Amino acid sequence: MARLLLIEDDLTIRTPLVRALRERGHAVAAASTAMTGLRDALDDRPDLVVLDLGLPDLDGRELLRMLRAVSTVPVIVATARDDETEIVRVLDAGADDYVVKPFTAAQLDARVRAVLRRGPGGPADQDPTLVIGGLRIDPRSRQVSVDGGPVELTPREFDLLRHLATRVGEVVTKRELLTEVWQIPYGGADKTVDVHLSWLRRKLGESAQQPRYLHTVRGVGVRLVAPGADG
Ligand code: CA
Repeated sequence: MARLLLIEDDLTIRTPLVRALRERGHAVAAASTAMTGLRDALDDRPDLVVLDLGLPDLDGRELLRMLRAVSTVPVIVATARDDETEIVRVLDAGADDYVVKPFTAAQLDARVRAVLRRGPGGPADQDPTLVIGGLRIDPRSRQVSVDGGPVELTPREFDLLRHLATRVGEVVTKRELLTEVWQIPYGGADKTVDVHLSWLRRKLGESAQQPRYLHTVRGVGVRLVAPGADG
């Protein structure tokens, strides 16, 4: 059971979804505008927010940015468009996952459970700090440093780096990354992975041409190794 806040203006979506999620054992509150949603998210401190991007008073992406500035509550975005660029943008703006309309309550419920498993209190809490060369990844505080200097990562970049670090020395395919990091077992585009890898590289102070930790294995995937350990 989770305490959910659903921010959705469309009554024909909101009403049946609230009912279906309650039937699945969740405590569900709903808001129909961005501003009431933001207030409820801060006042009621739900376990997770489901956010419609098309709201009457404010763009959902704007609301996501405002919420992220003050809260780490997990957010699942509901988007009307199955648009790669749009999805990458909201994920990078701090959304933890997304569903494309029309979606079923069962599908959303599965995403909610997956996101909450990853969150604080989940298995990551017991994970030890990963140290690979000068790279330190602390799953509990979700902090990363390279050669002692802190690296600011988005939640998605952190999950990507952590997944690669748990498989250190092995080639990890983009398919696996889409499944394990993005929770997209079918479909999804390699480009999503490529874009995030390139941002991650930049933040770690390297490039695909001059890799230190993240080595592309052409046509296969990517491998994380300590600098100098790659021969
Ligand atoms: Ca809407």
